[in-house]
Amino acid sequence: RQVAASVPDMTDSSGPQRGLGKPLVVLDDVNKHFGDLHVLKDINLTVHEGEVVVVIGPSGSGKSTLCRTINRLENFESGSITIDGTKLPEEGKALAQLRADVGMVFQSFNLFSHKTILENVTLGPVKARGKKPAEAKKRAMELLERVGVAHQAEKYPAQLSGGQQQRVAIARSLAMEPRVMLFDEPTSALDPEMINEVLDVMTSLAHSGMTMIVVTHEMGFARKAADRVVFMSDGAIVEENTPEEFFTNPQSARAKDFLGKIL
Ligand code: ADP
Ligand code: MG
Repeated sequence: RQVAASVPDMTDSSGPQRGLGKPLVVLDDVNKHFGDLHVLKDINLTVHEGEVVVVIGPSGSGKSTLCRTINRLENFESGSITIDGTKLPEEGKALAQLRADVGMVFQSFNLFSHKTILENVTLGPVKARGKKPAEAKKRAMELLERVGVAHQAEKYPAQLSGGQQQRVAIARSLAMEPRVMLFDEPTSALDPEMINEVLDVMTSLAHSGMTMIVVTHEMGFARKAADRVVFMSDGAIVEENTPEEFFTNPQSARAKDFLGKIL
């Protein structure tokens, strides 16, 4: 595997680092503009089944746009994105199915404020996946248990702390049985004392084998849970490596500069 300070070829066949599965999310030369701004530049990225990729980089480097593009919340002009070999559909039923396969957790928790915690987690599976309400409820309670908020199931989002709400948002996403989970700075809106409870849930999810793409500045999480760190700057993947190598031995000037500011 290439470790240079250039865009590495992650579509090679050398395979994942520690017995991970087949390529699940593959971006091939993806380019996107916002008007004159070239926000994603020739992005090549392969995420294997079971792999945890942490994306870091300065503000404005295109990390959120990358997530939103993978989930098709944004269009792109050239290149391709495939999920388990299937090209991202443009619209319609196929797109809805794909969105269900790709779970996303944002910085703001986006729970439905007028629904209970339990309803927040059952709504998607019942409405979009046609699950029976009783079955959806059983599964929702298991997931709420897993993220440690089962005892809050009948409450409304505003009655929970930010950390609890974000854990509900993770449970809600998992209820759709996604194949891959995208996290876009899931802890950056939280008070410091709540960050770890969310990171712990994410770490345990990572250890359970979930495929994850995580945008975060939490280096402790990256060190503990990531198979690979991808460093973005100005819309491009500048460098990628194991967390160990990346944090101790960054190759590019831009990565060195960035790490110098945050570590
Ligand atoms: P990051 O998440 O790394 O901070 P973003 O993906 O949010 O970066 O943004 C990358 C660049 O694209 C920034 O310069 C931002 O201002 C710009 N941008 C993001 N969303 C839009 C949009 N909807 N329209 C125009 N420019 C945008
Ligand atoms: Mg962002």
